[in-house]
Amino acid sequence: MLTVNAYAAPSATGDLIPTTIERRDVGPHDVLIDIKFAGICHSDIHTVRGDWGPQSYPLAPGHEIAGVVAEVGSAVTRHRVGDRVGVGCMVNSCGECANCQAGEEQFCLAGNTGTYGAVDRDGTITQGGYSTHVVVTEAFVLRIPDGLDLDVAAPLLCAGITTYSPLRHWGAGPGRNVAIVGLGGLGHMAVKLAHAMGATVTVLSQSLKKQEDGLRLGADHYRATSDETTFTDLAGSFDLIVNTVSAAIDINAYLQLLKLDGALVNVGAPADPLPVQAFSLITGRRSFAGSMIGGIRETQEMLDFCAEHGIGAEIEVVPASKINDAYERVLASDVRYRFVIDAATF
Ligand code: NAP
Ligand code: ZN
Repeated sequence: MLTVNAYAAPSATGDLIPTTIERRDVGPHDVLIDIKFAGICHSDIHTVRGDWGPQSYPLAPGHEIAGVVAEVGSAVTRHRVGDRVGVGCMVNSCGECANCQAGEEQFCLAGNTGTYGAVDRDGTITQGGYSTHVVVTEAFVLRIPDGLDLDVAAPLLCAGITTYSPLRHWGAGPGRNVAIVGLGGLGHMAVKLAHAMGATVTVLSQSLKKQEDGLRLGADHYRATSDETTFTDLAGSFDLIVNTVSAAIDINAYLQLLKLDGALVNVGAPADPLPVQAFSLITGRRSFAGSMIGGIRETQEMLDFCAEHGIGAEIEVVPASKINDAYERVLASDVRYRFVIDAATF
């Protein structure tokens, strides 16, 4: 066992505090990673605060991990000491079910093992990337291409793949009109990725405060959802809408913005339901769908795509002592556009 520094939530209501956690010994198929940066995802906040159900505490969150391989097990073939690597939202899956066989480990029929707060195979509760080191089975460790700095690469492991996967699945590309709802961590990655894929991109944000940034990141248009004319002007405009909002919004209003056969894909995961009226769907053969992160193969594809197109996250690096302040700023939609913790400060 390795005892390492970490930041963890003691309960659903307490601030995150410095602590130590245990990492297992490096097994034959394991990789020990010296963490350099860990992104702060809104899911970390939902989870530690109990939005998605009760948790086991203390809980160290963090599933946007970038670092360097410090040690490998005797049977490891994919990674070597010194490699630049990343870990996202899952650290294991059964490997045998139809979905795992198809490379969609996130939808493992036995349930994937989440990077934190999940029951690991040895019965312990997984602890995430707000820490100095992590031990992960090699198949769930991604290669970070040379062209990407580790700090801007960390958020790709969740925000990047969570938006890349639906953009690919629903065919974002030249000639397609794509709207991104919410310009936060996921939203700003969605704008960069959809633009790089060749789609025409519109940001739908609560206000025009971040318009200049949105256009710089690759959006062609930027509209405020607080302005009612946005919904009348853009009715029937989009082939695809990706909703990244962390709170419940009026999905029916957004469905009206789709063309015939268009799809609204939800990646935001609010605790509250998102009620949909049948008529919002049937009057335009519209779809309302969801998407969750992406498989390991697709995550590597996304990292390679980002390196090829020079895409990283827009980040604000913070020391571990500022995690609780960063959480409050994320909750206030005051993030430009991802907080990344410097792991040297754990
Ligand atoms: P974030 O950085 O906080 O971004 C969310 C954005 O939503 C905000 O920046 C804001 O954008 C908008 N927003 C927030 N509250 C709103 C409200 N009440 N009404 C309208 N718009 C609002 O969060 P994130 O890290 O990108 O995560 C977004 C959501 O995706 C979270 O629920 C997270 O748990 C979920 N998630 C899902 C997956 C998955 O696999 N499906 C993976 C990761 C995260 P504007 O200021 O531009 O309006
Ligand atoms: Zn996340």
